[in-house]
Amino acid sequence: MARPVQYNVKNEGGKPLQIVGAPEGFNGDGFFTTKLSNVVGLARKNSIWPLPFATSCCGIEFMATMASHYDLSRFGAERVGFSPRQCDLLMVMGTIAKKMGPVLRQVYLQMAEPRWVLSVGACASSGGIFDTYSVLQGIDQIIPVDVYVPGCPPRPEAIIDGFMKIQELVGKESIRRRNGEKYKQLMESYGIQ
Ligand code: SF4
Repeated sequence: MARPVQYNVKNEGGKPLQIVGAPEGFNGDGFFTTKLSNVVGLARKNSIWPLPFATSCCGIEFMATMASHYDLSRFGAERVGFSPRQCDLLMVMGTIAKKMGPVLRQVYLQMAEPRWVLSVGACASSGGIFDTYSVLQGIDQIIPVDVYVPGCPPRPEAIIDGFMKIQELVGKESIRRRNGEKYKQLMESYGIQ
């Protein structure tokens, strides 16, 4: 089976994909100027280190997303890490039982800033079909989430789509955001200092 067209390594004309474009800025004769935020964003968004937190079936879709057919490494994210201190994208995939909640929160707290969270699938995002006393009805009850991926399970294309939305956020984020009042309030609303 061929790769889905939009994620193929060749574009429509059959030419190989080009390197990522330059950030917004002023292109003069022999020089280029832009904002520091743009350069930092460009580097960050193309070198994301994901930390997979997979508890059930959605994790299997993540495995497919990482394997050769879909291959997340084409987005600069092949370096999957299992130490929270090295990673900047927490990918939560699967049913999160309430007992697992403190563990997930601990993993999030151990990640250094800047950090982002991708909630993959119905269970992580809302509890999914498990509307029951033992299942957390969405991880955003305990940690802030940046992007939600719908589906039960979401196909690898949907996970890649969510990942690309994260890349968009990362690329556009101001380097001052994490020191701002709004971000501080967001963290305080989760009881995080
Ligand atoms: S959303 Fe569906 S596929 Fe994903 S963990 Fe829940 S039950 Fe499994």
